Amino acid sequence: MPPTRHTARRDPSAAPTLAEVRDQIVNCTACPRLRDYCQRIAREKKRAHRDDTYWGRPVPGFGDPDARVVVIGLAPAAHGANRTGRVFTGDGVGGSCDFLMTAMHAHGFANQPTSHHAGDGLRLSGAFIAAVCRCAPPDNKPLPYEIAACRQHLDAELAALPNVRVVVALGRIASDACWRKYRPEGPSAVTRPAFAHGQVIDLGTAGVPIIVESYHPSRQNTNTGRLTPPMMSAVFATAKRLAGPVGA
Ligand code: SF4
Repeated sequence: MPPTRHTARRDPSAAPTLAEVRDQIVNCTACPRLRDYCQRIAREKKRAHRDDTYWGRPVPGFGDPDARVVVIGLAPAAHGANRTGRVFTGDGVGGSCDFLMTAMHAHGFANQPTSHHAGDGLRLSGAFIAAVCRCAPPDNKPLPYEIAACRQHLDAELAALPNVRVVVALGRIASDACWRKYRPEGPSAVTRPAFAHGQVIDLGTAGVPIIVESYHPSRQNTNTGRLTPPMMSAVFATAKRLAGPVGA
């Protein structure tokens, strides 16, 4: 008689795992405007990528499940992550992906300074990259109700990452999302400081990550010198110092 197989059952009330969250994100259809836009871009393509098969679906986070640092961006680029299917990947020479990865690599969070396509061998160590909105928006501008709808996915990813100590918020909208999530309420409520590049917000609450604010590495900021490589690097030096050594 063959041995009886016992299948371990998960507690149905347990928070979703990272793999389950990924599945939920990839199959989300909550925002018709964004889903239509991403699919249209994936069909029409850009001349330079006409031979590529675009991802065209919502983009889940990417990185180390033991991450102590989570980087939160805004949304996939139409011909970047919406094409490659990996967050902060493939927006071309001089784009935000390599700019960000160069800084993360310099501080040991990435094994290479570039992020070109999902099979390029990039691995993150001690870090995870997520976004406020998982579908590429027209003009890179998600609407407030779309950001609100997508909050569930960021919350679920953060809940599935048990070791997070620092959140790097890339841009004001990402910082808004962090503040909304982590702000203290009731008698201990504090006034939110104005957004500032390099600002560290430590709410001093057990289990609540420290927020490090940064300008977003969009071409608009990097081409104008508003955000320089040393400034981006300094953000990750701060994040590394605050998060402590990996495995501690
Ligand atoms: S933006 Fe977020 S909530 Fe809206 S469809 Fe995409 S994944 Fe779903």
